[in-house]
Amino acid sequence: MSHVFPRQITAPPVKAVSAKGCYFTDENGKQYLDGSGGAAVSCLGHGDPDIIKAIQDQVAQLAFAHTGFFTSDPAENLADLLIKYAPGDLDRVYFVSGGSEAVEAALKLARQFHIENGEPQRRHLIARRQSYHGNTLGALATGGNAWRRAQFEPILVDVSHIAPCYEYVDRAEGESAEDYGLRAAQELEDEILRLGTDQVMAFVAEPVVGATMGAVPAVAGYFKRIREICDQYGVLLILDEVMCGMGRTGHLFACEADEVSPDIACIAKGLGAGYQPIGAMLCTSKIYDTIGAGSGFFQHGHTYLAHPSACAAGLAVVNAILDRNLLAAVQTRSEQLFAALTDAFGQHPHVGDIRGRGLFAGVEIVEDREAKRPFDPTLKTAARLKKAAFEAGLVCYPMGGTRDGRMGDHILLAPPFVISEPQISELVDKIGSAFKQVDHVSV
Ligand code: PMP
Repeated sequence: MSHVFPRQITAPPVKAVSAKGCYFTDENGKQYLDGSGGAAVSCLGHGDPDIIKAIQDQVAQLAFAHTGFFTSDPAENLADLLIKYAPGDLDRVYFVSGGSEAVEAALKLARQFHIENGEPQRRHLIARRQSYHGNTLGALATGGNAWRRAQFEPILVDVSHIAPCYEYVDRAEGESAEDYGLRAAQELEDEILRLGTDQVMAFVAEPVVGATMGAVPAVAGYFKRIREICDQYGVLLILDEVMCGMGRTGHLFACEADEVSPDIACIAKGLGAGYQPIGAMLCTSKIYDTIGAGSGFFQHGHTYLAHPSACAAGLAVVNAILDRNLLAAVQTRSEQLFAALTDAFGQHPHVGDIRGRGLFAGVEIVEDREAKRPFDPTLKTAARLKKAAFEAGLVCYPMGGTRDGRMGDHILLAPPFVISEPQISELVDKIGSAFKQVDHVSV
């Protein structure tokens, strides 16, 4: 009997024993194509010798040094590299162990910045419905996914949630994409005005919404308007790039495509590519200097901040993305992936939308294509597709329960950047086999 506490207690997971390139092998020797990098983590695939060596060397030299006393070369070098390529005025990097920690740090930094900037009354947070920012209490409160929040609602801090930018569902007939983007962004200004123009500390959003919506980018112009509104009212813009950052969309930072830069950015997942747990919060010099000139101390921290072995992994990963020209590879494979998905499912009666950016793709499953009506949630479409895909030897990331008030289902794809064209065909074929195994989705 296992003593591990699995996520799904009623259905403990299969035991993986090894992984190489784009494939996992389980204890029975069965192979699985990694179509989602776990949850958009394994951007370099598995078993990369350069990353393994970088970690081994670092562990041998200096595995750990507490940031209460020391900094280290891997932390310094990784911060320099990230800032070299980071958009806008991002200038400082705070290393943590994952995405939720990066979001928690961002929230607390935003609050402390306003206090030290002479505006202690700024305490309200605004985020979006159908978003996910992590599972720790602050990050969970920020996220707008009703299902994840439900049982913890009484112990969550109060956060306002506005609509996401979800063109497929929310753009009105006859409305241009640009007008829709401005209308969606207007919700932010309306909420700031409702709360009080000097009351809001930050607005938090994912540039491309991952887990809760299935790779949904905003329409052009949306984030530019969001940036203007934040600037007008002194609200910090926190962009959560935990899933969509680090090359996933073909840009090192996803917000580059939206032509905006945040005051605070959160990254994780692809930063360590699964070789080590690492995340980071990046902030502008304005925020850093305000606290530097004030209390001089960010009142937050964890034992494993800037962990040298994790930073060594992150440094090797980002160098690999840049040196191996993987951002260009993402663009090329992206075209192949979207062409293959459109070819296979573009006319499928239960596929409502195929969207995304780079190697970050979402396939929205609907009961009725014309009406864009989702399946009844009790059918558990996403969970059944996940199971059928897994049986067919594919790891992908289906999710249900995403739309406001109505349940929706999608499959999220985020394969390693090193996926080959034949492997893209295999991935799409296996999704097709999964569709055939689930009665109400098969045709
Ligand atoms: N933000 C986003 C956008 C995410 O997708 C996730 C994880 N799925 C998180 C935050 C939380 O990251 P972690 O699971 O590493 O804590």
